[in-house]
Amino acid sequence: MGDSVTGEHRMLIDGELVEAASGARYDNVNPATEEVIGHVADAGVADMERAVASSRRAFEESEWASDHELRKRCLRQLHEGLAKERETLRPQIVAEVGSPITLTYAVQMDSCIDDMEWDIECIDRIDWEYDLPVHEFFGMRSARRVLREPIGVVGAITPWNFPFMLNLSKIVPALAAGNTVILKPAPDTPWSATHIGRIVAEYTDIPPGVLNVVTSGDPAAVGEVLSASRDIDMISFTGSTVVGKRIMAQGADTLKRVFLELGGKSANIILDDADFPAQMGSGAMVCMHGGQGCAITTRMLVPRSRYDEAVDLLKAGFEAWTYGDPTDPANLQGPLINARQRERVLGLIEQGKREGSRVLVGGGRPPQFEKGFYVEPTLFVDVDPDSTIAQEEIFGPVLAVIPYEDDDDAVRIANNSRYGLSGAVNGTDLDRAYGIAKRLRTGTVAVNGGQWFGPDSPFGGYKESGLGREHGIAGFEEYLETKTVGLPTP
Ligand code: NAD
Repeated sequence: MGDSVTGEHRMLIDGELVEAASGARYDNVNPATEEVIGHVADAGVADMERAVASSRRAFEESEWASDHELRKRCLRQLHEGLAKERETLRPQIVAEVGSPITLTYAVQMDSCIDDMEWDIECIDRIDWEYDLPVHEFFGMRSARRVLREPIGVVGAITPWNFPFMLNLSKIVPALAAGNTVILKPAPDTPWSATHIGRIVAEYTDIPPGVLNVVTSGDPAAVGEVLSASRDIDMISFTGSTVVGKRIMAQGADTLKRVFLELGGKSANIILDDADFPAQMGSGAMVCMHGGQGCAITTRMLVPRSRYDEAVDLLKAGFEAWTYGDPTDPANLQGPLINARQRERVLGLIEQGKREGSRVLVGGGRPPQFEKGFYVEPTLFVDVDPDSTIAQEEIFGPVLAVIPYEDDDDAVRIANNSRYGLSGAVNGTDLDRAYGIAKRLRTGTVAVNGGQWFGPDSPFGGYKESGLGREHGIAGFEEYLETKTVGLPTP
């Protein structure tokens, strides 16, 4: 072990920090150094079944679902514990994710700790009970009361790209809404979950079973326990569209609620009146975190009337982009998560070349790194909007530049995708840019640099980018059921 960073290797099951029943562990690997930095419990199906039984019991027998004050107090203890251990967590996240440390001061860690209070305050924002006017039905006048209730036991399944943030984005609103939760993180990033489990055990009065954290190197077998079990009421999943569909199919038999945050292939439409030096100069920002972000605008749509100028500026920006060691605050791009992802990304780059797109910068493995799962920042131009690299989510540091004729053509190309997660429109005339944003079939759009992200901003996908919304009141309500009670009039 060449790295001094360590993390929590035990899971949280039924209020206790535990090893897998079999005693098995698997390696946690730093993607920047390829070194084993520690181990973590490797749960089997029996461990997951124990977690499910514990969460069910906690939902039915503890006060968690009904006691709003208990939930606020306990979640504030969790918040305090996480805030106190920030500087222990930060190097763990950098080491296991390969995330640039600079990102941990924002969305990768700090902003989600700081935003927790917003979800906790939702407990006071929601109308847990409200009355409807008296209504006559079949000759009888009735009062009606609407109750909002937690859904029950939630299985939360998360990916590796922003693991700590995505873990909190699920467990905080789900717990605040009164559910109990089983968190199953991605195998590559277990510490971002087990650390939360340890803080729950050591800093909070959260009753046993209200949160279970189960790590496994074999996600399909263990994850499928969640999607198939009758004791799980909802799956909250963030990950790839292909696994999201599988989970939905597996959950169909028990008609499980499914909340899905999936992949994206978002378009950035550059209008002909845009500030080209500024827009193209920042074009390489799509390589941030190795392009491992679901909402990154990985297709750039450029007006043909200014295409050559745009391509020259983009090329200069990509050539000037520096990347490497994620512990260096100057780098915004580190490695990809593992060798499999690197090979997948390189395979898609080769496919792009075969299908006729032109590589202007990058396109392979960078020779300067002896270790680490790095891919060169890669600029593709003359990309056919129907080709593989314009349609498939690459999840690597790759920008596909596509020329368009006029505004209608730009909207048509942007919407020519099975995904609908995010997008951007950049020009000088705000009304024109906003008008185009309204025509995009996506869950979020950034207009002229405006940022849509926030704890109160609903985030999610149209089309095959998902079902439901995370964050905001809409996100909180995903974790609630609605019951209507008919009552006789007084
Ligand atoms: P993935 O779909 O391979 O895995 C996601 C999670 O599902 C992991 O925890 C994995 O262990 C688990 N899993 C895999 N097979 C399973 C099964 N059969 N049953 C239950 N669980 C199973 O995704 P990934 O490669 O970890 O992450 C990258 C993907 O996540 C990209 O497609 C990206 O766009 C997407 N993503 C989406 C958002 C969003 O909010 N829309 C955010 C981040 C990442």
